[in-house]
Amino acid sequence: MSSDLKNQLAELTSRLVQINSVNPPGDVTNVTDFIKDWLNAKGFSSSIYEYVKGKPNLIAKVGSGKPTLILNGHTDVVPPGDISKWAYPPFSGKIVEGKIYGRGSTDMKGGLAVIMMVFAELAPLVEKKGTGTLIFSATADEEVGGHAGVEALVKDNILIGDAAIIAEPTGFDKYCIGEKGLCQVRLVTRGKPAHGSLPILGDNAIVKLIKAIERARICIDEFNRGIKHPQDLIEAIDNATEVYLEGALKSGLRLSKDDLRATVGLVSFNPGVIKGGSKINMVPDYAELELDMRVPPGVSPSNVVDKLRGELSGLAEVEVIDLSEPNYTSSGEMIVQLIRDGIAKQGAEPKPIIITGATDGRYLRLRGIPTVVYGPGDLTLAHSYNEYVAIDDLVKTYNVIKYVSEKYLGLRID
Ligand SMILES: [Zn+2]
Repeated sequence: MSSDLKNQLAELTSRLVQINSVNPPGDVTNVTDFIKDWLNAKGFSSSIYEYVKGKPNLIAKVGSGKPTLILNGHTDVVPPGDISKWAYPPFSGKIVEGKIYGRGSTDMKGGLAVIMMVFAELAPLVEKKGTGTLIFSATADEEVGGHAGVEALVKDNILIGDAAIIAEPTGFDKYCIGEKGLCQVRLVTRGKPAHGSLPILGDNAIVKLIKAIERARICIDEFNRGIKHPQDLIEAIDNATEVYLEGALKSGLRLSKDDLRATVGLVSFNPGVIKGGSKINMVPDYAELELDMRVPPGVSPSNVVDKLRGELSGLAEVEVIDLSEPNYTSSGEMIVQLIRDGIAKQGAEPKPIIITGATDGRYLRLRGIPTVVYGPGDLTLAHSYNEYVAIDDLVKTYNVIKYVSEKYLGLRID
């Protein structure tokens, strides 16, 4: 490995970290301008699509015809939080002992630097050989749902291809093939008001809600017992459990692997907000719970809602707050196979994972585009204090993504 490439990757990552693009508010103009100029200086033009002022998306495209490979990364980062908890200022991009520190280093300016470099390296070859199309996209808004970014670009047929790599942090030997979906509902109970000294004359909505929560919990446990995962997903859930377990142990939690696997691989259950009653001396006639459940690939969130409605009928109403489909890319897809080969060529055993949260990958997958999330960094460092990315990880993931892109676009034969 040339030390030149290593230095370029490290410097580019550090430079990107230094450009503050915190979301909210999510203004990524400066970082997008930087990327545009960087590409320009290397002779590549790019287009800007700005659905919301201050949230520009950049797309650079080379080559023509099929197949089209998309390399994607988001330009926004989460806020740094309490600055005093950082060993180095969060926007310093300071390089210490082979690591680049700062907000967004892992999530995901390191990944952006990697795909910028891969694009710049391969674009002239793609143009010359004419064996397909390579798209580089730096998109806004991911940290608040990607609506002004990848979602809008996919909807407008601007970001469409035959396969995609999103360089979010997985670490160089792991790759993410799927994400859980969202099933957020409100349980509402209604009662009859009465004076607090004579509760027997009323009907207490809070007491009903407590019963409803317990029943909902049992209902989800039962639903979970019926879930059968396809074989390639079982491996990914198992690996993901290891990753989350490692993170939990680091922060001092003692969890059993089986309990954690159930949360990762099945429908999770988190009562998030509870409201009800207005005065201590009144029997409450209204109570509600906002319940956050995440459903694994293969499970339809609306089936979960139906099941709950059936179970709680007569006790609580079930209102939908937000649903989104879980998604995954089958291990039989060429892009998955190539990522595996690329990792193996670096001397590691490739490990598929799923993640419990959502990335922009869902918009591409739900559009039918096989998508792998793969990039430098450590999933458990994302959004944390003293976030960093290892330079070694930048180099290895660069090699893998370059290899995959070359193979996918017919630029190498081995
Ligand atoms: Zn991210």
